[in-house]
Amino acid sequence: MENLTSLFPTIEIKANDRLDQYTYTKTGGPADWVAFPQTVEEVQVLVRYANKQHLPLTVLGNASNLIVKEGGIAGLVLILTKMNQIQVSGEQVIDQAGASYIETTKVARDHALTGLEFAAGIPGSIGGAVFMNAGAYGGETKDVIQSATVISPVGEVTTLTHEELDFGYRHSSVQDTDSIVLSATFSLKTGDQEVISAMMDDLNQRRADKQPLDLPSCGSVFKRPEGYYAGKLIHDAGLQGYTVGGAQVSKKHAGFIVNIGQATATDYLEVIHHVQATVQAKFGVSLETEVRIIGRD
Ligand SMILES: Cc1cc2nc3c(=O)[nH]c(=O)nc-3n(C[C@H](O)[C@H](O)[C@H](O)COP(=O)(O)OP(=O)(O)OC[C@H]3O[C@@H](n4cnc5c(N)ncnc54)[C@H](O)[C@@H]3O)c2cc1C
Repeated sequence: MENLTSLFPTIEIKANDRLDQYTYTKTGGPADWVAFPQTVEEVQVLVRYANKQHLPLTVLGNASNLIVKEGGIAGLVLILTKMNQIQVSGEQVIDQAGASYIETTKVARDHALTGLEFAAGIPGSIGGAVFMNAGAYGGETKDVIQSATVISPVGEVTTLTHEELDFGYRHSSVQDTDSIVLSATFSLKTGDQEVISAMMDDLNQRRADKQPLDLPSCGSVFKRPEGYYAGKLIHDAGLQGYTVGGAQVSKKHAGFIVNIGQATATDYLEVIHHVQATVQAKFGVSLETEVRIIGRD
């Protein structure tokens, strides 16, 4: 394999870089290459190179919804957190993909723009939020997004409308096309800054009361099964506190699996499989993971 650091000397690229330093769960083996592009042009150069060389390409945002396996990731990983500009134009907020969702909600609040309060505590990037249609407390990314600019696996940049993004529960069309989100435009409304601020504080307090925010995790591990709550099923199955190695079903919020020590991705996966099998056996409900599990065994 060619040496990407000498091939692209102006782009920050690291060889054989461990991913556990970036993931919220603090797990994950090394990637062959990790690049931190700072501009759309840098992303485009890397995407085109990977496509031409048949080099596997993976994109990460804040790595807050990921379990990366112990074998790490083959090929090139793009981490977009250095593309993090947030611009306000009237009632629109235009974000680069690596911008923080939490930071974006604060910028909207500071401009007295309402609509993003629900996302005040979602620790992802904007690219990850569009990809996942992240949501909380009755709001979803799809409610406020107007469009997103993406780059295709062959390096073509296009802007997708709300309709083309085809949002669903924790789903957007970006998941089906292997595209990379480069930026997104939110359409908000002018509101009362004090009301916006109070709502954000309230939602953050509710999170802090219910979620184990003091320990590494990847948020809710499972999607909400139709007609049920994953956390309640896991609680009712008596699984809170179930531990493999350093991975534990949170005692504070049954939907979370926390890293209480030196958890590995394998520990996480064993806990996930045990929870799925137990809930299936006790209640006949199949739990599908919301967290994305990627990488080599
Ligand atoms: C404590 C905690 C609380 C959480 N609370 C919530 C919550 O309330 N609601 C909620 O929905 N989620 C929640 N999450 C999960 C997570 O924050 C969201 O899913 C978030 O949108 C993921 O964004 P990210 O940048 O971290 O994505 P990553 O974890 O980096 O990636 C997730 C997926 O998105 C893809 N992706 C990332 N960036 C891009 C891009 N630019 N283009 C294309 N694909 C991309 C990745 O390839 C991967 O498949 C929580 C997580 C934690 C740790």
